[in-house]
Amino acid sequence: MLNIDSIRRGIVIDHIQPGNGFKIFQYLNLDKVDYRVALIINAISKKKGRKDIIKIENVIDLDFKFLGALDDEITINIVEDEVITEKIRLEMPDRIEGIFTCKNPRCITTNERNIVQRFSLLDRESKSYKCDYCDNIYTWEE
Ligand SMILES: [Zn+2]
Repeated sequence: MLNIDSIRRGIVIDHIQPGNGFKIFQYLNLDKVDYRVALIINAISKKKGRKDIIKIENVIDLDFKFLGALDDEITINIVEDEVITEKIRLEMPDRIEGIFTCKNPRCITTNERNIVQRFSLLDRESKSYKCDYCDNIYTWEE
């Protein structure tokens, strides 16, 4: 396992599905911040074999709907004085608005830019969502 400085005060996003760490990193614009951040790819996980981890040395607002829709097995640890003070488990939101975009070229949201993208949870087991406008089905995990 990589040896990385522990953070004093901030957030550790743990148990990220391998490959999603980079997506979350980009979504949170962590490549543009001036505080310390670390993206660890393919760390060893006892449960899953491999996982990604993001360490953020700052307390920032996280979009739990985005993270939950992407991967509800993520754990968010809030760190104060190098100790985890809070663990947040995510849930898949029933509805998502304005986060993901529908990829169906015939969907009305692709052509009309002022329509807010909306998705509804279709099946928790397969982690699939359905576009409210065209019924295309998506999972954002892979
Ligand atoms: Zn659509």
